[in-house]
Amino acid sequence: MKNRTRFSMPAVLLQAFAFIAMAIVSPGVCLAQPDSGYKTHDWNRPRPPVLDPGTASTQEMPGRAPSDATVLFDGKDLNQWCAIDGSPTKWVIKDGIMECVAGSGMIRTFQNFGDCQLHVEWAAPVPPMGRSQGRGNSGVFLMGLYEIQVLDNYQNETYADGYAGGVYGEFPPLVNPARPPGQWQTYDIVFARARFDQKGQLLSPACLTLLYNGVLAQNDVSLTGPTTWMVRLPYTPQPDKLPLALQDHGNPVRYRNIWVRELGSDARQKEFTYSDALLDRYAGLYRVTPLLSIEILRRDRQLYMKIISPGSEHEHALFAESRTKFFAKEVDSSITFQVNDRGIVESLDFYMGGDTNRARKIK
Ligand code: MG
Repeated sequence: MKNRTRFSMPAVLLQAFAFIAMAIVSPGVCLAQPDSGYKTHDWNRPRPPVLDPGTASTQEMPGRAPSDATVLFDGKDLNQWCAIDGSPTKWVIKDGIMECVAGSGMIRTFQNFGDCQLHVEWAAPVPPMGRSQGRGNSGVFLMGLYEIQVLDNYQNETYADGYAGGVYGEFPPLVNPARPPGQWQTYDIVFARARFDQKGQLLSPACLTLLYNGVLAQNDVSLTGPTTWMVRLPYTPQPDKLPLALQDHGNPVRYRNIWVRELGSDARQKEFTYSDALLDRYAGLYRVTPLLSIEILRRDRQLYMKIISPGSEHEHALFAESRTKFFAKEVDSSITFQVNDRGIVESLDFYMGGDTNRARKIK
């Protein structure tokens, strides 16, 4: 009894240790804290922005997105979507509904998204064909990396981590609220991207919560890495934002009413991933002055600017704000390309720290 008294510690200290231990062992611990810059009930604290919440969908009629959402598909056109390399998609619109064309490949958005709220509605083909993973298979790929499975699981069994609403190969959905094929089903997803430090080490994994037909199917799960068939991939450093993608798994799965809201600091600046063909047109060498050149390079789906001056070369990734304007993230610098009437790239404007200089393309 004596010893226990001697080694006991105040409850507040125990709580602090417990919290620190939880933060170390549990990557899913909630990091949001009240802003210490405000008093409790502070009248000067900014109010939540007012918005129109839109309307819910019915089976007959798609709903309307909240007023601050980016509408990715409202039945009119596929302008927000392309094939993975940025060329026009072969998926089709029929009666205001987007349909996967078997063998045409995945589609992705032009716009990049990281932390977001995503609403997707989908319907499995009628009549149902095939079984297990072969029936009404598609998928919603957050950042093109993490698949939330789309599958016709109405009276169709498959392996647990391959069910509709599952994080494919990682987390089965908590429930199977599947509607019959042909009926509209909804995914409402809250997604937090993975965080990496400057050296590319993982700070926190990607996390997501999913309401499937309004029912909780994923509850703030911490993903083990990108999803794929047969293996669990480790995390490798990724950009903060990447395009959303929908899977072609050979079945004519249909989509309608897709919208997204960027969250937190990811909402500050829109960015896009344009076609490889467009990026290739910008690649080349540009002369600013006899002593200063800029080389524009493409690697994968990203442009880089290499600033070349005597005895010095450094490189920055560029992110598209529009089809002609690209910005760096770690330095106040941007590039705007000039394209003539024949589509030839003639020059660029190099902005840095308040100054803009024009550079002719020489190679
Ligand atoms: Mg799939």
